[in-house]
Amino acid sequence: MGKLMVKNIGVLVSGDISSPLLNADTVLIEGGLIQAVGKEKELDAKGVDHVIDVQGMTVTPGLIDSHCHPVLGDFTPRQKMLDFIESSLHGGVTTLISAGEVHLAGRPKDVAGTKALAILAAKSFASARPAGVKVLGGGLILETGLQEKDFEELAREGVRVVGEIGLGAVKAAKVAALMGKWAKQHGMAVMMHTGGTSRPGSSAFPA
Ligand SMILES: [Zn+2]
Repeated sequence: MGKLMVKNIGVLVSGDISSPLLNADTVLIEGGLIQAVGKEKELDAKGVDHVIDVQGMTVTPGLIDSHCHPVLGDFTPRQKMLDFIESSLHGGVTTLISAGEVHLAGRPKDVAGTKALAILAAKSFASARPAGVKVLGGGLILETGLQEKDFEELAREGVRVVGEIGLGAVKAAKVAALMGKWAKQHGMAVMMHTGGTSRPGSSAFPA
């Protein structure tokens, strides 16, 4: 891959909330990585073999969709939707975080099954990026009977998030809080839904 210059940037967003806008109009990229950011006239353009003039557009880091329901690959069975992750990419999303692989037909609701699904999705998405999008897959759906040792095993096997609470059978705040504590003890993040329910059969939390 050669050296790319993106120039005439109108607004350059840093991704750093303490300093969100950069005093720059040009980005130099080499080997897929940003090498330099600054004013075009101050940057070393030696070796640049491709220039994109964005004519005053805003350039931002890739967006993160922190609440998505993938299943495996770029296919979600319930909606019979192919390539929806690629469509997200076209909207600027380069990272998706799974809030649970809930749209799998016949989703297992026992302890072994919910663990197996989370581990499968975590490992699958860790090995394959649909359309180049990074997917943090394997949002564990909380089901009755999960024990602390299960969270230890899940974390060891690469599961990093608990999917939105309320998807599974665990709906009591006390039980969810205990499982959330176990998850956090093993380095996992716990996701929380706010707002209304999105489809018939799902429930608000706490019930
Ligand atoms: Zn959701």
